[in-house]
Amino acid sequence: MLGTETAFAVSAEAAAHGAKGNKIYPFHLGDMNINTPENITRAAFDAVKQGKTGYCPTCGIMPLREALADDINASHGTDFTAANVCIQPGGKPVIAKTIMALMNPGDEVLYPNPGYPIYESQIEFHGGKAVPYCYKEGKENFELKLDELEKSITPKTRMLIFNDIQNPTAAESSHAELEAVAEIVRKHNLYVLCDEAYFDMRYEGKSNSLVSLPGMKERSVILYTFSKKFAMTGWRLGAAIGPKEIIDVMSKLAVNDESCCNHFIQYAAVEGLRGDQSGVKKILATLKERRDTAVDLLNSIGGVRCFRPNGTFYLFPNVTEAMKRKGVKEYDELRKLALEKTGVSFCTRLHFGRALPGESDRYIRLAYSGINTDQIVEGIGKLKAFLES
Ligand code: PLP
Repeated sequence: MLGTETAFAVSAEAAAHGAKGNKIYPFHLGDMNINTPENITRAAFDAVKQGKTGYCPTCGIMPLREALADDINASHGTDFTAANVCIQPGGKPVIAKTIMALMNPGDEVLYPNPGYPIYESQIEFHGGKAVPYCYKEGKENFELKLDELEKSITPKTRMLIFNDIQNPTAAESSHAELEAVAEIVRKHNLYVLCDEAYFDMRYEGKSNSLVSLPGMKERSVILYTFSKKFAMTGWRLGAAIGPKEIIDVMSKLAVNDESCCNHFIQYAAVEGLRGDQSGVKKILATLKERRDTAVDLLNSIGGVRCFRPNGTFYLFPNVTEAMKRKGVKEYDELRKLALEKTGVSFCTRLHFGRALPGESDRYIRLAYSGINTDQIVEGIGKLKAFLES
């Protein structure tokens, strides 16, 4: 059955509450209220003026495919060329196309839970069996449960979906953990969909990719998106990067689905990759300030604890104790009450997959990409007053 991204439903509820004249503090959706850097916007207008308004090649204009291959090679130590890149209308379409290209009906696919809900939806819609592996709260951040992941592998397992620097937990694997994942992938001869939507969304340190490890780039498709790094969520531009024979299949799927991506915005994306990076730095600085404000305030609420992750723009605080103190048992009750009483709108753990057997701790997800610091202070202040009353 085709599932959905239920965060969009939460958005609609918040909008309906707002339409009645209520103030909303939007922490629910990973959209951004930060403008796309001006040099990128200008490049799009210039391309329109230059008549880049017709169809273009299915896998994208050559300058963009080359710029993206160069960008990935610089950060991943790979040797991709334009032939390994298929430009897509966002990061999301890469999920379905990779599944269609690599999975047969009846195959099993491992996917993260809690995790981005579209994986499970697309695996099952295309006739596969979605097998969850979990992330659990550790000492300093959420952690991948590697032993459980390996135990779930059967002879029917075809692919691993791996979203390091993860939505919703912001979990990030250490180098040793990436090595261990690569070992499992090689041992069981799996394909990998490596969702790197947040690879460049980090505030400290350097991101590492599973695809950089020996034997990985031959069996992996990288999901890349311009949405987050360049604050271009509504432009709809991303890419699949991987072995040419897989990219060729995805290109065939793209001819059937879209013909090509929006032509002129691809010139804007070239400017994003090759041009002045000061806009990107500003976006990260803005988000980092929001993260620090939100984390400090959340940790000041009785019965709430929250990590300070290095990447993404999501927080996944543990609210088990706060719910107990408030006498709220169900996630949806908490979410709806908070919206009604405070205007604070967020997703809960259940928007990121079914709760796993034995899971007793409770979590909510707050995105700080679409709300300014002063509103974070005001909104979390109201949430604190509500939860502690
Ligand atoms: N993958 C993950 C983990 C995401 O969180 C998102 C968006 O939130 C996407 C993929 C899709 O990105 P896009 O907006 O570029 O389609």
